[in-house]
Amino acid sequence: MRISYEPMELRASHSLDIAHEGFSGNVFHNVLVRIEYEGIIGLGEAAPFFIYGENQRTSMAAMESLAPVVRQAEDPWGAESLMQEIDSALAGNQSVKAAIDMALYDLQGQLCGKPLHSLLGLRAEDTPQSTFTLYLDSPETLREKVRRVADWPLLKVKLGGQYDLEAIELVRKEAPDAVIRVDANAAWEPHQALDMIKELVRYQVEFVEQPLPAADPEGMRWLHSRSPLPLVADESCLRLEDLPGLRGLFDGINIKLTKCGGIRHALKMISCARALGLKIMLGCMVESSISLTAAGQISPLVDYADLDGNTLLEHDPFIGMQFDKCRLVLPAGPGLGVKSAE
Ligand SMILES: [Mg+2]
Repeated sequence: MRISYEPMELRASHSLDIAHEGFSGNVFHNVLVRIEYEGIIGLGEAAPFFIYGENQRTSMAAMESLAPVVRQAEDPWGAESLMQEIDSALAGNQSVKAAIDMALYDLQGQLCGKPLHSLLGLRAEDTPQSTFTLYLDSPETLREKVRRVADWPLLKVKLGGQYDLEAIELVRKEAPDAVIRVDANAAWEPHQALDMIKELVRYQVEFVEQPLPAADPEGMRWLHSRSPLPLVADESCLRLEDLPGLRGLFDGINIKLTKCGGIRHALKMISCARALGLKIMLGCMVESSISLTAAGQISPLVDYADLDGNTLLEHDPFIGMQFDKCRLVLPAGPGLGVKSAE
C-alpha cells in the first residue's frame, strides 16, 4: 500500500475557548492522511490535542516513522494485525493511529462497495442526535450565540470559566425546551463542583462531563457518591485500559477516536463500557468531515453524540456526514463516504 500525509489547517468561524489553559483560538492544526491500494484512496485525519502531548509537528514525525509499516503491508485486509504492529512500533500518538485506522476502514468499505456502518452491521437510521457546543464566552456573546441555535434541541455548554452560573441561567432562559449537557473540562475542585452541580439541577441539566482534573480520582470518588447528576469522563478516559478504574467515579464515558487510537479501539471501549454499566458518548475535537464521519459510522452503538466539530468551521475541506436538525445523517457512499469539497 502507499501512504501520504500533509498538514491540514482548519479555521473555525469564531474563537473556541474552553477551561484548559492554552486552548484558545480559531486555527486548528490537523494532519490529513491518504492510504492507497489498487488505485483506491482511503482518507484519514489526525486531530492532535496538546493536553495529550500531541501537536501537528509530533503527528507529522509520528507519521514519518509509521509510514514504512503501512507501506510494507500488502493490502488493507490485515488491518487489525497491522494496527497491532503500529501500536508496538510507536507508543502514544493516538490521533495519528486513529487517522491510519480510519483510512484502512475507508479502503475496506470502498473495496466492498459498502458504507462502513453496513460492514459493521449497523443501520444508518439508528444514528443518535448530536449536541451543539457553546464555548466559553462573555454573557453578551453567549446570549447572541444561543439565540442563533435556539431551535437546536440538544446543547452542550462549556463551563469552568468566569461566568458559570450566569452562563447556564441565560442558556436555559434562551432555550427553555433544550436538553442541556455541561462540560467543565476539569476546571473545578471537588466542593466547588458539588455546589455547582446542585445549582445545575435547578436548570434541568442532564449530566456533567469531567468536573475535576483527571489527576484527582479520589476527589471524583467523593464527588460521585454525592452528585445529584450523572457524571461523564472525558479527560479521565482516554483508552480501553482506563475503563475499569472509572467504576465508582463516573456514570459514563466520552469516547473520541483521536484519544483512543481509532474506530477499532472505540469498538472495544464500547463493549467494555457496556459490560461495566457505563453510558457512552461519542465526542470529537475540531475536525473536518473525515474524522466526524468516521465517528458517525459507529454512532448507532452509543447513547449520546457530540459530533458537531465541523459545523464550527469556516470551511470544511470535505463533505460527509450531515445533520437533519440535530440527527446525524450518514453518507450513502462506500467506506467512510467522504468526498473532497473542491
Ligand atoms: Mg469534554
